Amino acid sequence: MNNNVSQTLGSEDLELINKYARKTLTADDVYTFSVVLCDNDADRDFEYFTRDTLVKLSQMYVGVTGIYDHDAKTENQVARIYACKVEDFPEKTTKYGEMYSRLTAKAYIPVCEASKELIDMLDSGIKKEVSVGCCIDKCECSICGTDMRRGNCTHQKGSVYGGEVCLGVLKDPTDAYEWSFTAVPAQKNAGVIKSFYQAYDDSVSREEYTKLKKYTEELEKRADEGERYKSYLRLEVVKSGITAQIGIEAKLLESMVKGLNIDELLKLKKCFDKKTCELLPVRPQTYKAEISSIRQTNEGFSI
Ligand SMILES: [Zn+2]
Repeated sequence: MNNNVSQTLGSEDLELINKYARKTLTADDVYTFSVVLCDNDADRDFEYFTRDTLVKLSQMYVGVTGIYDHDAKTENQVARIYACKVEDFPEKTTKYGEMYSRLTAKAYIPVCEASKELIDMLDSGIKKEVSVGCCIDKCECSICGTDMRRGNCTHQKGSVYGGEVCLGVLKDPTDAYEWSFTAVPAQKNAGVIKSFYQAYDDSVSREEYTKLKKYTEELEKRADEGERYKSYLRLEVVKSGITAQIGIEAKLLESMVKGLNIDELLKLKKCFDKKTCELLPVRPQTYKAEISSIRQTNEGFSI
């Protein structure tokens, strides 16, 4: 996004900046730049902030320090936001058909030896990507309006229902705790690392939450892989059944295998393949012994 636009410093800006300084800073003491934190368009997780959420975040982000790569160690806190606002673009529409708005912040860095490298990078436009970390209390389903993390919504984000893509609508921010220069932003236009740990349980620390989130994501990924393998296997079983000429039409077979687990599907496929071996007489040499043994042991096999 069009981040890190260096700007001329007015007295108003200096006044705001000096709220955070221990000694009075002059225009020569600070380097300032604009940064787009996030917008209200749908991101790659099929979620979006409402404009109202952006407005609330704009108040929360004032005074928050920026860090490198979401590492909250003090030495990495390099820039501080001293002003933040929602910019509207009436001529531009979001993917879900509303006016495009974005959250833009003004930030400053004290000019010193330690910050020289970052300032050079910002000047040259290298450090362009920014992501934000905030807590959002509610993720509402765009189809049924249920809170997707608490309610009984059965819709899947990214799936289409009656011509409408299901999106998670992010509402009620409770904390804006960081923004950082990072290489891989989550939001398409700016990058949002969304964090929901407060929504679940206040007794869970941020570290524990991050760990749990990572673990859950890994499990979800594995479950997803398993589901995809099962779909593939079902298709293979149906194909095997047809090739084995078991006399059941594909549609019926498809619904018959729907409820089977991976083990059952594998067993069934093995049965069908054996039957196919019996049917097909032309086979390479190595198959012959196997086929004859199947004939002996598997006489009368039927489904
Ligand atoms: Zn729903």
